Formats: sequence, C-alpha cells, structure tokens
Amino acid sequence: MKLTVSIAISAVILVFCEPKPNKVDPYGFLIQFGYAEKPPTGTGLDKNTFERGVKKFQAMMHIPQTGKLDAVTSRKMNSKRCGMADFGEGNVDKRRIAFATRQDSPWSGGKKHFTWFLEQSSGQFSSGAQRSMIDKAFRYWADVSGITARESSDLNSADIKVRFASRFHGDANFDGPGGVLAHAFYPDDGRLHMDDEESWRDVEKETGTIMTLVHELGHNLGLTHSSVEGAVMYPSRGTPPEGFNFQLDGDDIYRIQRLYGGPNGPNPPKPTKPPVVPTQPSGRLNPKDCDRYSRFDSIVQVPVYGESYEDIFAFVGRYVWRLDSYDGALEQRSTLQRYFPGLPSKKMFSAFYDRDLGYLFLTSLKTLFTYDVYRKRLIEKKKLSFTTYAAFMDPEKRNTAILMKTRGSSSIYFEFNTITRRVEGRRKYSRSRWSFMNRTPTAALISASFPDHLFLFSGKSYRTVDLRTYNFVGGTRSNSRAWLRCSKAIDRY
Ligand SMILES: [Zn+2]
Ligand SMILES: [Zn+2]
Repeated sequence: MKLTVSIAISAVILVFCEPKPNKVDPYGFLIQFGYAEKPPTGTGLDKNTFERGVKKFQAMMHIPQTGKLDAVTSRKMNSKRCGMADFGEGNVDKRRIAFATRQDSPWSGGKKHFTWFLEQSSGQFSSGAQRSMIDKAFRYWADVSGITARESSDLNSADIKVRFASRFHGDANFDGPGGVLAHAFYPDDGRLHMDDEESWRDVEKETGTIMTLVHELGHNLGLTHSSVEGAVMYPSRGTPPEGFNFQLDGDDIYRIQRLYGGPNGPNPPKPTKPPVVPTQPSGRLNPKDCDRYSRFDSIVQVPVYGESYEDIFAFVGRYVWRLDSYDGALEQRSTLQRYFPGLPSKKMFSAFYDRDLGYLFLTSLKTLFTYDVYRKRLIEKKKLSFTTYAAFMDPEKRNTAILMKTRGSSSIYFEFNTITRRVEGRRKYSRSRWSFMNRTPTAALISASFPDHLFLFSGKSYRTVDLRTYNFVGGTRSNSRAWLRCSKAIDRY
C-alpha cells in the first residue's frame, strides 16, 4: 500500500519536473505560421498546399526543399520559436493573399521614444531582475538606432506592456513548455507576452530570456521575421550556450535603422557591426544615369536580403536599379550578378516573383530563367514558344503569372503556372478583366507596398491601374521622377 502511494507521487513529480513538449501537428503549424492558407472549415489541407507550405518552411529553415515531412523538417517544426507568423497577415482580403507579406513598418507619427512597464512578472526571477533584463533588451535596439526607451511608472500610459503569462491569457493560447516561447504585437500595439511555462531561469537563463525579449521588442518596434539565420529576428532558435555573447546581426541593424534611423540621426556614421547590405546614398543619383537608364526592360519586387523586406529591381539592359518600395533608388545602378549571382548577363525582357515559392522568373527573348531567391541560384533555364515583353503575378489567381506577348499588339496574353512552370492558357484581352488595355507595356509591376495597383511601364514613363476597378487611374508619369528619385516628386499615383 505504502509502496503504491510513493510510486504514484513520484510519477506526478516526474510529470511536473520534466514536461514533455507536445509534438506539433504539421498541418496546424503551416497554417498558424503563414505557410499555408487556412482551408474552409470542414476540409483539410490538400496535398499540393501542404507540400508547397512544407517547401516554403524548408526554404526559411535553410534545409533541402523536399516538400516532405522528413526528420529534419519535423525537428525544425518542433524547435523553440516565436508565436508570430513568418508570412501573411491572416486577416487580408482573399484576393490579395499573394501580396499579403507584411513589411517592416514603424510606429505612426514618427514616434521614436518609448516607455515600458512590466505588467505581469514571472515567478522565476525577482521583479528587479526582470526589469533589468527588459532594460538591457531595449538597449540592444536603442544602441544601434534612433529609438530611446525608459521604464514607465504607470501601466496605462506605457507604450510597451510586458507580461509573463501561461496558456490562455486574453489574446491567445500559449502551448506550455517548448514550442512557442513568446509573442508580441506590431505597431502601434505594444503588448509583449512571454510564455511563463518556459524554463526561463533554469534553461534559457538570462541570455536566452534577453534574446527572446529583444526579438519580441523587434516586433513591437515594427520588424517582421527574418530568413537570415544569424539574425535575432529569425523565427526559431536553439538554447544559447553558456557564456554566449549575443549580438544583433547586420540584418537586424539595417532593418531597425531603416525604420528609425541611426543612433545619431538619419544616417549613422558607423553601426556597431557593419550591415550586410549597402546603405542608401545620401546624395542624388547621377542625373545622366537618371535619364539614360530610365527605360525599364522589366521590373519586379523581390527580397534579396531575407524575406522580411522586399526591394524593387528595375532591369535596364545588363544593369539593375535597386529601388526602395516607397522612396526611389537606393544606390547607383549595378550589375545583375551583384544581387542575383548565377544569372547570365543579359537583357531581361520580363520579370515576376512568386512569393509562395520564393522563385523569381525572368525572360530574355524566348528563354525563361527560374531563380531561387533564398538560395541565390539558378534552378532552371528553358525555352518558351514566344517572347514575353511584360509579366506580373495574377492578383486573383495563386501561382499564376500573366505573360504579355507582343509589343504594340493588344490581342492576347498567356497564363503561366509557376509550379509546373508551363504556359497553360492563351487568353484574349478583350474577353477578360484586362480588356481596357489597348497596348502592351514593356514592363509591369504589382508592388507589395501598393497591392491594389498595377504599374505598367512603356518607354521612360508608366501608367497605373487600380486593381479594385480594373481601370487606369491618373495620367502618364515619368519613371525617373517617381521611381529613381531623380527629382523631389515621389508621388506614385
Ligand atoms: Zn517573432
Ligand atoms: Zn499574448
């Protein structure tokens, strides 16, 4: 009798001391973290959607894109991570789902000075230790950017409200030990929640706890997840080793400075660690280049430094302009190979990017190039039966691009399936929602920053189509003024 009782008690203790993290359901995982769209209630994820989601997750994790739930993929799904989705925003209009990738965005009103309050503390550390860790975490961002932070004495007026909470805590459900460690809200919502069932004191220790706080504060400040593995904004991580000297990555620094400027004003003299990307030129572009290279052969928005932000690339002959989606040229024109190593040095007639797959497609005469943006390598080169002069992803149809065939003619276009990489349909403009087009442009762009607009380029100018009405809006505008920032006017439409 006595023996039975003691076995029962030790079993209970064992359960509480070494809780086994639940194995995640891969279907739920893909939906929760933005790798697959939620299917209508009552149906499951179909095989294709599942495989595509797995591939996208594998790309983010930098492991082979098999599309299958192999051991390494399953291990990655079960690793510790942030509760925020890696892609998508969840509540977007279905039609725009392909363009729903969230972009980094700062607090409104140019806010740079933040206050914080520890709303609900953990029993694992003293309250003083927790407040000191929040302060240290904030300092990682404040040291390299234009923000400042101080503790508030009042919960209600504080911008950032930190809580250690477990299971259901008002806005969502934490999953117990392992899996999701924390989550936070994007501007202007400053809620930051840490899962209090994690072993912050014993396993994560101060370093792991601060790393998590820095990551979540990154969300509060407007940063999304990064696909750069060493970045603090990468969605998952292991347990930091003893004595680990945690530092921000160049990717983190570049992105926070993009939102809030450097520590000494808009253009910092030198960040603590040089960013991995070239910084914005302070002066104007060479005016001769502005004119000579404003006839775009093709234009596309694509992430080249991690999925979290996308720049626009305008191809001109063998050169490329890298443009900020809001603010014009980021630097003087450069070669294709600088951003897309492995691509041939050719004039690219059209370009489009499927965010679902992470593949950039380019055409040069009748050759189609498929390029893996994450791995920076050419996947396939094949012949099409016609020359495409402009192309863009169909705003209403997933994994479908519209290829416009001839210059000067208005009769037909093709539908291209980005998964099979085949031309699947030949359509007449006159019988489609594109019937208002009376000539074929030489380049076309739908930017994630302006998802309701299609920009059609021809010569040194462009026109804008409102995708809510499928009609032109505004008149013809100059590429060099609006896209290259060769003059002050940046108003796009
Ligand atoms: Zn996160
Ligand atoms: Zn929460």
